[in-house]
Amino acid sequence: MPGIDNTAMFKLSYGLFVLTTKDSDKTNGCIINTCMQVTDNPKQICVCVNKANYTAELISKSKEFCVSILATSVPFAVFERFGFQSGRNIDKFDGFSDYALTESGLPYLTKNCNAYLVATVKQEIDCGSHFMFIAELAEAVKLNDETSVTYEYYFANIKPKPQPEKKKGYVCKICGYVHEGEELPPDFVCPWCKHPASDFEPLK
Ligand code: FE
Repeated sequence: MPGIDNTAMFKLSYGLFVLTTKDSDKTNGCIINTCMQVTDNPKQICVCVNKANYTAELISKSKEFCVSILATSVPFAVFERFGFQSGRNIDKFDGFSDYALTESGLPYLTKNCNAYLVATVKQEIDCGSHFMFIAELAEAVKLNDETSVTYEYYFANIKPKPQPEKKKGYVCKICGYVHEGEELPPDFVCPWCKHPASDFEPLK
């Protein structure tokens, strides 16, 4: 049995999108990676949203959402803002100015985004951990010709890599020998070139 290699799934052309919606007093948004066209006539798209996400709850009520299609220029800060915090208690647009409103009043991103789609929910399918919303397009606006960002591109180029833990130590300026540790004893002698501690400098 070949089993399931999650990285094989990344070869699907997952995109990255900011999904926005609102109720009478609150605007909300989150990052999703699945959005696709379902039918051409009528034009329908679908999105999948984790039920734990407040945005899913709001779309269930409002029956309308906007998808901002992110481009490869998108900085990690957009993921931190829309992806890594709950919208239940905060306003994700607080202090964020790179957005405008669609005809129906939903925010879409004006920067690092190449198009946006507004759709009205026709079907809500309970998929266990997620709701799948099948929705009819109301607006579809192309903003520019930037390339859409894929999930794979995000992992390779946008998400910061974990920094290897910095080693503390001293390096011999003469031969490059590294003494690991917080301190270099004053009477230390380089085991390779026999130079004294004064020829060592802290590791950068
Ligand atoms: Fe040395």
